[in-house]
Amino acid sequence: MLLAEIISVGTELLFGEIVDSNAAFLARELGARGVILHRKTVLGDNLGRVSEAIELALSRADLVILGGGLGPTDDDLTRESIADALGETPAEDPELLAWLEGLYAARGRAMPGVNRKQTWLIPSAEALPNPVGTAPGWFVRTGGKFVVALPGPPREMQRMWREQVLPRLPLPDHALVSTTIHTQGIGESNVAELLTGLTQNANPSVATYARKTGVDVRVAASAATEAGARELLAPLLDTVRAHLSRWTWGEDSQTLAGALDAALSGRSLGVIEAGSAGGLSTLLADAAGFLDAAVTQDHARLITLGLTPVTLRDAGLVSEEAALELAAGAREHLGADVGLAVVVSVEGENAGQVYAAIHGEKGHKAAGVNWPGDAAQIRERAAVTALALAYRALRAGGELA
Ligand code: ATP
Ligand code: MG
Repeated sequence: MLLAEIISVGTELLFGEIVDSNAAFLARELGARGVILHRKTVLGDNLGRVSEAIELALSRADLVILGGGLGPTDDDLTRESIADALGETPAEDPELLAWLEGLYAARGRAMPGVNRKQTWLIPSAEALPNPVGTAPGWFVRTGGKFVVALPGPPREMQRMWREQVLPRLPLPDHALVSTTIHTQGIGESNVAELLTGLTQNANPSVATYARKTGVDVRVAASAATEAGARELLAPLLDTVRAHLSRWTWGEDSQTLAGALDAALSGRSLGVIEAGSAGGLSTLLADAAGFLDAAVTQDHARLITLGLTPVTLRDAGLVSEEAALELAAGAREHLGADVGLAVVVSVEGENAGQVYAAIHGEKGHKAAGVNWPGDAAQIRERAAVTALALAYRALRAGGELA
């Protein structure tokens, strides 16, 4: 069993100016590899406190991972803190110095003096190369335990973790496999009901998550080998897939836009958006069937796109009637096989009201939702509501299939 702690270093992290996404990444990585994580600590750029935290963490855990503070400036104190905690003295490493000077020379610059501390090592530390930055990491072996120092910039940190740290760690025999099933049109409590008796199990496990695109169901298993984990996962995954098939639109990295694209099966899609600031078009941008869009709240323009003045006057722009007229208009005026429209109000007493409608050769369909939120949340929900409506109507067995 390998016990780990993470210490994130940076005053901007401590004060909430940036969010500690590095620790979240590392926590997921450790969990997936069977390493037990007991604590995450966030500290400012302070030598005494970081050094004290390292000592304490080393007294409890086998692996201490530090993030940030490897830069060249005075407030980058991670190396000094590790040296202090272990009672060792840093010294410039000639190889690292040659490498770093070479990096600057290649850009036609002389290495500033402050960067010299990035070439420091202590006797128990091995340097971890950084192919995308100037800060090498440290891999320290001390009394059968490990201290790892990684750079703060996430791109540098993640690459060093994967390429340099993982191969050096004595990881337990552990493989975690999982499949996430994405559903639409069914609430989380109904999913939970369907899966009664399956969600209590620890390994293999079933868990539900409410996402913007619908309810996700994750089926996971762990074992000493990947083959073993897959064997454990398979029967439960089949059961869950069978229970959810009516609502499932994809698995793992598939997107709702991709699922809609497949459901369009070659038909083109025109979109009219009023109030959602192009959010639906953005979601659809990569889908092959997406033909054209009109994004506007201008009443005159919407009328040329199919909204009738009577509807506008009696029901208003944010109404089911208006959405239906605009969906028909998207087909006709944008020249698409299928028209999709979304109307939404993000402010005033109607804030949060969304209507979406779809119009195709075989008919039309509308949906409305009303949830409070800030403008960005409401727009995003509007876009997903329209996308989900279109997917449900156009997929095999849907009304407009
Ligand atoms: P640099 O050489 O860039 O100074 P560093 O190793 O000293 O790297 P920091 O100075 O602590 O790292 O952070 C550099 C930048 O990396 C931060 O401004 C921030 O954008 C990002 N960063 C640092 N720590 C984290 C973290 N825990 N989560 C997400 N981003 C982070
Ligand atoms: Mg820094």
